[in-house]
Amino acid sequence: MMKAVVLEYKRVLSYKDVPTPEPNPGQVRLKIKAISICGSDIKRFVDGHRMYPLILGHEISGVIDRVGDGVSESYVGKHAAIIPLVPCFECEQCQRGYYSACHSYSFIGSRQSGGFAEFVDLPEKNAFILPDELPFEHAALIEPSTVARHMLALGDFKSGETAIVLGAGSIGLMVVQWLRILGAKRIIVTDILDDNLQIASKVGAHATLNPLQVDMEKELKRLVGDGADLTLEATGVPQVLAQTLPITRPRGKVVLAGNQPLDGSLPLTFIENMMRREISLIGCFMSYSAPFPGHEWTETVAALLNGSLDMDTMISHRYPLSMAPDVFEKIGAQQLPHQKIILNPEETA
Ligand SMILES: [Zn+2]
Ligand SMILES: [Zn+2]
Repeated sequence: MMKAVVLEYKRVLSYKDVPTPEPNPGQVRLKIKAISICGSDIKRFVDGHRMYPLILGHEISGVIDRVGDGVSESYVGKHAAIIPLVPCFECEQCQRGYYSACHSYSFIGSRQSGGFAEFVDLPEKNAFILPDELPFEHAALIEPSTVARHMLALGDFKSGETAIVLGAGSIGLMVVQWLRILGAKRIIVTDILDDNLQIASKVGAHATLNPLQVDMEKELKRLVGDGADLTLEATGVPQVLAQTLPITRPRGKVVLAGNQPLDGSLPLTFIENMMRREISLIGCFMSYSAPFPGHEWTETVAALLNGSLDMDTMISHRYPLSMAPDVFEKIGAQQLPHQKIILNPEETA
């Protein structure tokens, strides 16, 4: 048996013994060393999920300790991060390399067991092999970095451009880092929490704005005139989405990555503004490109190795895995302001 944190129902997580997985043919087993909590894990806890019981968790790193039939023994002992999307690699969209649009995908930690545990099984292709010198905590944060890198790829960001990042949660902060790494001329970040804005400044923002404290439209006019070349929405708040067009320059681009409430709506003046300014609105879902898992992943590791991607500033809390039910309870009750939270399956409370 092993210890795992299981989502039993909406708002019910339990830390308990479950059978230790054995790798099936074509799979490797990861002995987990570091787990990072994703906003989507919190959403599955707070709002409920499609299936129960489920072991959550997809921002995970560890060491491969066993392999199934047909997988080379040479994997044993290698460090790896989980690539959570499990595409079919056969359908029309997979053939094109649009893996996140796969007709029949699985997702580790959402549609199959994830990594809030001591061990997890994954297909060989879903183990992203890493150099041994990369710290496990940094490796657990590769996945959210790849989402940010993918947003900039979709927005066709070019060095020397000006960007506005709406929302300084973990994806927004990763976007700030990638804008800095890729040579943005000006990075402006907005958030309603000053703590988030302080971290944004530390990781590369040139200017930060709190809409609760300043007149955003006026300040942005002062900072970027007719608008940014690229605006990145990472809040999922309808009022923030509605603001994206007036702050983006004519012919500029807006990339959307925040999950909006499905019962909300926008006035059609939004489309009118988009047409008049000839702005491109671009959706972003996950972080994949061909060859699988994509340049987003290899570039993240390169940026970690050369020190340009700062993960330490992103981590606000560390707990043993056994404390996950308490931690989620507190987050659900809005009692734990946080950035990235790392859980360690090898420590006990
Ligand atoms: Zn995530
Ligand atoms: Zn497919």
